[in-house]
Amino acid sequence: MSSIVLFGPPGAGKGTQAERMMQATGLPQVSTGDMLRAAVKADTPTGRAAKAYMDAGKLVPDEVIIDLIKDRIAEDDAAGGVMFDGFPRTVPQAEALESITSVTHVIAIEVPDERIVERICGRYSCSGCGSVFHDTFNPVPSNGCSCGNWAEKRRADDNEETVSSRLDAYHEQTSPLAEWYRGKGIFHPVDGDRAIDEITGDILDALKA
Ligand code: ADP
Ligand code: ADP
Repeated sequence: MSSIVLFGPPGAGKGTQAERMMQATGLPQVSTGDMLRAAVKADTPTGRAAKAYMDAGKLVPDEVIIDLIKDRIAEDDAAGGVMFDGFPRTVPQAEALESITSVTHVIAIEVPDERIVERICGRYSCSGCGSVFHDTFNPVPSNGCSCGNWAEKRRADDNEETVSSRLDAYHEQTSPLAEWYRGKGIFHPVDGDRAIDEITGDILDALKA
């Protein structure tokens, strides 16, 4: 089994691109952020362990995340590989991943910090299907989401206060991973400060490399 990692700062467009790449690659999206939010909502032990970190815009401890991923990867639909979105976020997580699945491509969606606040503060999604939208850059169609179950959902942590801690966590703990993966020859940077479809095209090209 071989997997892909979508890497980048919060709000870079990882989830947006994962939605589009699922069809092209046939790989299921595995978003640790989505899994953690579901665990918080269901008030599971994992959710209780993660909530305070998420509310503060800090990274959830590695052992919680690694256990979550091990369970997810054991599911049937992951047998042919997955597309990781928001995982790994630390070098210890990446090291643990090496013993779980082989990663063929790390796609780094690069967006400057000054763009991130507007991206995150304008983000909303469809609670029916999870599709991601933006107030200005990618609004939902006027007749609602194409899934037919449109209801708007906004994340509690998508506000200016937590964005700065999330960016700090990214620069301090996650960005060193770029060098780690570059050294392995599987790192593909993509300019994420462009139209959504252009970025999808670049990612598809990178996956052919
Ligand atoms: P991530 O999963 O990396 O946190 P998202 O995919 O949720 O990022 O995108 C963050 C916000 O930015 C969403 O509101 C999304 O609609 C918007 N967005 C995504 N890609 C682009 C882009 N290329 N240009 C402008 N806005 C974008
Ligand atoms: P973003 O859209 O900002 O990239 P995510 O939905 O991926 O956010 O993650 C939301 C929050 O969940 C993070 O701020 C962090 O607290 C936690 N989280 C998600 N994935 C991880 C991970 N791999 N390691 C540690 N914490 C994580």
